[in-house]
Amino acid sequence: MRITEIRAVQPPTPAAPTDWRTQLGQIVVQITTDSALCGYGVGGGGAAGIHVIETVLRDFLIGKDAREVEKLHAGMCRHTCFYGRSGLAIMALSGVDLALWDLRGKAAGQPVARLLNKHVDLSRPLPTYLTVFDEQETETALNAGHRAVKLHVERFGVPPRISDLSDQVSKAREILGARGELMIDAFATWDVASALNVANAIQAEDIAWLEEPIPPDDYTGYRELARKSPVPIAGGEHEYLAQGFQHLLENRLHAVLQPDVNWCGGLTTLVDVYRRAQDADVRVCPHRGCEPYALHAIAALDRQPLAESGRAWFTCLDGAPAIENGHIQLSDQPGFGVSVSAELWK
Ligand SMILES: [Mg+2]
Repeated sequence: MRITEIRAVQPPTPAAPTDWRTQLGQIVVQITTDSALCGYGVGGGGAAGIHVIETVLRDFLIGKDAREVEKLHAGMCRHTCFYGRSGLAIMALSGVDLALWDLRGKAAGQPVARLLNKHVDLSRPLPTYLTVFDEQETETALNAGHRAVKLHVERFGVPPRISDLSDQVSKAREILGARGELMIDAFATWDVASALNVANAIQAEDIAWLEEPIPPDDYTGYRELARKSPVPIAGGEHEYLAQGFQHLLENRLHAVLQPDVNWCGGLTTLVDVYRRAQDADVRVCPHRGCEPYALHAIAALDRQPLAESGRAWFTCLDGAPAIENGHIQLSDQPGFGVSVSAELWK
């Protein structure tokens, strides 16, 4: 199964937030082979990512055997390593890796989840959580069947207004009830002292995790937080490749790892992260896990599955499963079970 063509495009997302940092330039990758099979993946990096794919990665991949996914992943990392061991180049590479996994599933006539775990139960609905911004949205989430929510708290400022923030957290807990899982996301905006003040103020509300309280590269800060925070610290949606996650694991920087399969290096990396994290007894809860690519890994590999709601504005994937009553179910179609309209390539 030789690769004959590789293309990438940034699909129109009319309802997307205008802030580029939120979108991180989601791109769709298509790999065509001489077997008539076509694989689709989603990566990131926008125009810069597309350039990497249509120059360096295309030069490397054309003519190669698409079945050798792990070998091709290693080759793509080698060919981009002087400028791309993290960030845009790896986000782009992730889309290519996912398109290769899609091909692997289609060639086998199996959903990717079954390639990862032949005993996976595709009929099992997976629990989800919804990201919310206030108590109204928490209420709506609960009414829609979610039993877990993640509250974004950036709007409480830098440094955060602790008593307003902790009032909001208490309201969310009250709405959810004692059994609902409640997480907090700070979007990497605070420093260590602020994060500890928040953690101490909200610890009585039984918080499953405090996500990205400080910037992702502040490893020294995370070491201090891991030691002192009364609330488990989560992160990793802005980490890349197995060696990046290995560093987080070796230094015990996060209680929960949140790799984003469309950015971190694709499914090849996510599978590797699951294995390393499970060996270290650290939970993995992939970023935006309800989107179809991460969902296959969650269904197949996760010991405590919980899939984060996806991005409502990323609408170009046909066949993506929807959340129903707080749960989501994988499709049993080959590959990742999604396709894109031919219009996208015109
Ligand atoms: Mg986050």
